[in-house]
Amino acid sequence: MNRHPHDGDGVAGTVYLLHFEPAYRHARHYVGWASDVDARVALHRRGHGSPLIAAAVAAGVEITLAATFDGSRHLERRLKRWHKTGQFCPVCRAARGGRGR
Ligand SMILES: [Zn+2]
Repeated sequence: MNRHPHDGDGVAGTVYLLHFEPAYRHARHYVGWASDVDARVALHRRGHGSPLIAAAVAAGVEITLAATFDGSRHLERRLKRWHKTGQFCPVCRAARGGRGR
């Protein structure tokens, strides 16, 4: 397994941003990390991998893979702490006419 000096967790992978439509309770986005995003999203859509997503899927929420970012779990934690996911979510930005906020 390659270890990069700037990569605190040592495992390269992909951070992914899921957009919920409509929002589920307080959640409109989910940030996660996987080494295989396509497989993980397919898993999520079947209601696995996250209790939040499972509940959202069960409630009829549509899950969209809005964006992916190359990075480690370190990046995932940074994005999760940001709490302004809509600012970098392409789906939300498009819904606002592409101006973003
Ligand atoms: Zn969004």
